Amino acid sequence: MSDLKEHDAICHRHYEEFSLCDKGSTNIKKHLIVPENVLPNHIKNIRNNVCREIPNTTVLPSKLPDNEAAKPHPSSSTLSESYDNDFDEMDVDITVENVIEEEKEEEQNSIPNFLIAEGINLMALFQRCCDCGTLISAKKNVSTCGTALIIKFYCSGCKEYKKWTSQSTIGDSKRYTDNVLIPSTAVLTPISHSSLLQFSETLGMPMVKWTTFSYVQRNTFTVVAQEYGKMMEDILGDVLKRQQEGEEVFVSADAQFDSRGYCAKQGWETIMCSRTKRVLTGHLLENTETNGNSSAMEVEGLRRGLLELGDRGIGV
Ligand SMILES: [Zn+2]
Repeated sequence: MSDLKEHDAICHRHYEEFSLCDKGSTNIKKHLIVPENVLPNHIKNIRNNVCREIPNTTVLPSKLPDNEAAKPHPSSSTLSESYDNDFDEMDVDITVENVIEEEKEEEQNSIPNFLIAEGINLMALFQRCCDCGTLISAKKNVSTCGTALIIKFYCSGCKEYKKWTSQSTIGDSKRYTDNVLIPSTAVLTPISHSSLLQFSETLGMPMVKWTTFSYVQRNTFTVVAQEYGKMMEDILGDVLKRQQEGEEVFVSADAQFDSRGYCAKQGWETIMCSRTKRVLTGHLLENTETNGNSSAMEVEGLRRGLLELGDRGIGV
C-alpha cells in the first residue's frame, strides 16, 4: 500500500478506504492515476465530487469497467469494434500531459469575441485598480448575472467605487450580451438548455436560467421564421420569373430523419433547385401523419412540397 501515497489524485476518503483492504488496492491499479500537481483544477473538482458520490471510483479510469467494455454496441458489430478501438486509443493517450501538449499557441490578429477565463486568473488582474494602479486593499464584491461576472471594489487612490463587468450590455437595456447570445446560439446549433446546464455545471461555469433561455428561444424562433419567410419569397419569386422567361425548373429532394432505420419519429423533406442548388421549400413530418410508417414520410413530404410549389405557380 505504501506506493499509493505519491498518487494523491485519489480523494483522501477513498485513499483511506482503499488503504484498509487489499481488494481496494487492486481496484486502484485498474485506474490511471496521475500526480496531484499535474491535475487541472476542474479535474480535481470533478474528482472530488465524483469520489464523494460514487464509492470505489476515481476519475480518469484507464479502462471501461469490464462489463461495459464487453457489452456489444446495439447497432452493428463493426460499429462496436470501432468504439472499442477508440477506447483503446484513449487508453494510451489520456494522460494529462498529452492532452495539454495537443494544443499549440496560436497567434490572433484580433481578440476573439468570447473567451473562457479561469476565475482565479481573472481575479489576479484585480489586485490593483485598473484606472490608477493603486493596490486594492478593500474586499472585492464578486457576483454573477447569468453568464456575466460583475466585480465591484473601492479604490483608495481614485477615492471611488469601481465596477467591472465581463460583458457589455445590449443597447440601453440591462441585458448582458452573452445572456442573450448563448441561448440564441444554442437554439440555432442546436443545443438544449439541459445539455448546456449539464456542461456548464460540470465545468463550474455560470449559465443562464431556463426562464431566460426560453424567453430568448421564443424570440430567436420568431426572427428565424421571419428571415426564412423572406428568403423563401425572394427565391421562389426569382424561380417564377425565370420560368415565365421560358426556363425549365428541375428539382431534387431528400429527407433527413431524427434517427436512422425504419423507426424515425420526425423527418424534414427538402426540395431544392437542381441548377442553382437553392432550397425551394421544406416540410416537417411526423410518423403519425403517415400512420406510423417512417419510410412513407419521405414520399409524403415530397408530395406536399410539390403541391406547394404548384400552388405558387411553379411547374416542375
Ligand atoms: Zn483607482
